[in-house]
Amino acid sequence: MLVRCWWTFVAVKPDGVQRRLVGDIVRRFEKKGFKLVGMKLVQASEDLLKDHYRDLRTKPFFDGLVRYMGSGPVVAMVWQGLDVVKTSRRMLGETNPADSLPGTVRGDYCVEVGRNVIHGSDSVESAQREISLWFRNEEIQCWEDPASPWIY
Ligand code: ADP
Ligand code: MG
Repeated sequence: MLVRCWWTFVAVKPDGVQRRLVGDIVRRFEKKGFKLVGMKLVQASEDLLKDHYRDLRTKPFFDGLVRYMGSGPVVAMVWQGLDVVKTSRRMLGETNPADSLPGTVRGDYCVEVGRNVIHGSDSVESAQREISLWFRNEEIQCWEDPASPWIY
């Protein structure tokens, strides 16, 4: 798949879906000015999750992480825009919600690192890998708004 460098992968984790945070999270990215180019509700398989988090496979929390992420559907999204990978990470907050400032998703909505409601790719390379893992080509829509060329 051709994955563009101005795309990132964001997922509302099962606790975020169960807590009805999907609308708020989508709204934050829309209001910021990023463009939604892919979105689906997915019950992720164990294989997909192990692959997604393969860099963490030696961590003591790995099995619990895979169970958590498979405990219900996640909302998988691809967002487009200038510096979207870096800016999305700032909008998410730190991995540990206790270190996340108010105004970030994790700073506003959670308290525990093992239930931190949202995922966002940490680099352009990770974004490319994760988008290819979660999405097929035809699930991404490169739509244009000709009336607003300065809106991402
Ligand atoms: P991030 O999601 O901010 O990129 P990491 O890639 O380091 O963070 O970790 C992936 C996910 O693993 C975290 O979002 C969190 O859900 C979980 N996690 C990380 N550290 C811990 C931990 N110490 N205990 C339990 N879960 C953790
Ligand atoms: Mg990470």
